[in-house]
Amino acid sequence: MKGFDFEEERLKQEITRLNAKRVLLQMPEGLKPEAPRITKLVEKSGALPIVSADPCYGACDLATAEAESLDADLLVHFGHAKMLKHEKVPTLYLEARATQVVDKAVAAAIPLLADYTRIGLATTVQHVQTLDIAHEILTRAGKTVEVGDAGRVPYAGQVVGCDFSNVKSIAADVDAFLFVGGGKFHALGVALATSKPTVIAEPYSGTAHPVGEEVQKIQKQRYASIQEASQAKNFGVLVSLKSGQKHLEQALHIKETVEKMGKTAFLFAVREIQPHVLIEFPTVDAYVNTACPRISLDDASRFKKPVLTVEEFRVVSGESSWANLLKGGLFEN
Ligand code: SF4
Repeated sequence: MKGFDFEEERLKQEITRLNAKRVLLQMPEGLKPEAPRITKLVEKSGALPIVSADPCYGACDLATAEAESLDADLLVHFGHAKMLKHEKVPTLYLEARATQVVDKAVAAAIPLLADYTRIGLATTVQHVQTLDIAHEILTRAGKTVEVGDAGRVPYAGQVVGCDFSNVKSIAADVDAFLFVGGGKFHALGVALATSKPTVIAEPYSGTAHPVGEEVQKIQKQRYASIQEASQAKNFGVLVSLKSGQKHLEQALHIKETVEKMGKTAFLFAVREIQPHVLIEFPTVDAYVNTACPRISLDDASRFKKPVLTVEEFRVVSGESSWANLLKGGLFEN
């Protein structure tokens, strides 16, 4: 696959260094087409490759348990930076950095940032190496540039779908954000987390465009879900079985809070929170999602019942307010 660095030499070296005999390969959907090619490389290095075909959306979903059950002596996780602290199986992160240059896209963003002087930069791990050049282009265009370095994510300026600490840490010091990367998922998150105008510089096409009215659309939808959930007589509390998304203690606390409100709560353990999974429980009025908060925010229209984030539930229980959520709290599971 053109456009991404799979660090093949590093992969071979690590297999040799660990004398690995069985390697589990895990990659997000967009990179999976490369899996057959990578298995050949692993085989040539003397190990048996096994590809995890299950969906993978982030480093929060590290296939450690799967690697253990398959007796793999190395887990290779592609496409994300390290997120979890402890891995029981030796784990190699290959971040699949994009090889595209960003000059054209950043230059295209400058007219869209004409009304703003102080610009915050944000990106995903695929493009963190391009932030210096983006910084330089913006500075040459007369902008003051800020890059946040505050979160649990490893790189300055980096965001992941549920962690926008880097942009939040500089939101008060900038007029707008420039997000360098493809798609709307992360840029929408930047706009929702900071309430600042956000422009996307899209390296793959060399174009730029602002995050449009979708932010208001999502906020409106979330408000409606919270209203609907406040009428619920019972709640399903969703506990993820994915290692980095499992928040059992939090789920138990929510169950207790629901019961204190005089309502009923059920705990549901789940790997994939999908509409067809929840539809099997027609008597449940609303859900609280202690797993990936983006499932609640981005997939809302696919669910028949409200699926609140933990912070949204805190509005229903009276511990927080809608105004607080609008200050960027939608993501904090
Ligand atoms: S919890 Fe969701 S948004 Fe966060 S890293 Fe995992 S998949 Fe991405």
